[in-house]
Amino acid sequence: MTLLEEFLKRNEDFVNNQEYKAYATDKTPNKKAVFLTCMDTRLSELATKAFGLKNGDIKQLKNAGAVVSHPYGSTMRSILVAVYALGVDEVFIMGHHDCGFGALKPQPVMEEMKKRGISDDTFNTLEHSGIDVSDWLKGFDSVEESVKETVNNVKNHPLLAKSIPVHGLIMDPETGKAELVINGYQATEN
Ligand SMILES: [Zn+2]
Repeated sequence: MTLLEEFLKRNEDFVNNQEYKAYATDKTPNKKAVFLTCMDTRLSELATKAFGLKNGDIKQLKNAGAVVSHPYGSTMRSILVAVYALGVDEVFIMGHHDCGFGALKPQPVMEEMKKRGISDDTFNTLEHSGIDVSDWLKGFDSVEESVKETVNNVKNHPLLAKSIPVHGLIMDPETGKAELVINGYQATEN
């Protein structure tokens, strides 16, 4: 059985057994918050369960490293849509210790791309188009600095209302303990 077949089979059972009833909710988040967390597998459920959150409580976004690096990329757009169209009043940016993206070195990733058939020509073409793939793939040295930078990028986005708090946290991926890096209420008062 392929992974796709396995997933589809499980899905059929899920629906037939009406397991969805345990997740019934609506589009509006109960807690009026959007969380941006890392796509790390350890955080799949931990990131919400560690705050006692259940299905329907918050809007969740995930990407590699929980970073907003481009002001007009899809992650920032999702945050803005959450605020202006989906009832969100607060933004939470949550990185984590031992982050695979933080430790990411661009060179081995690019070598892996080449091994799988991405040609040097492609890298050259991108470079001529002003896209530095190495820089684009680069992780971060400190998760704390990364969280602060992303909070800053979101907080100072020209399209985000000044009244919206943007909090910064770091989670321990084993225990789920969250450390507060930036209290968005304080930053909003200033
Ligand atoms: Zn991570």
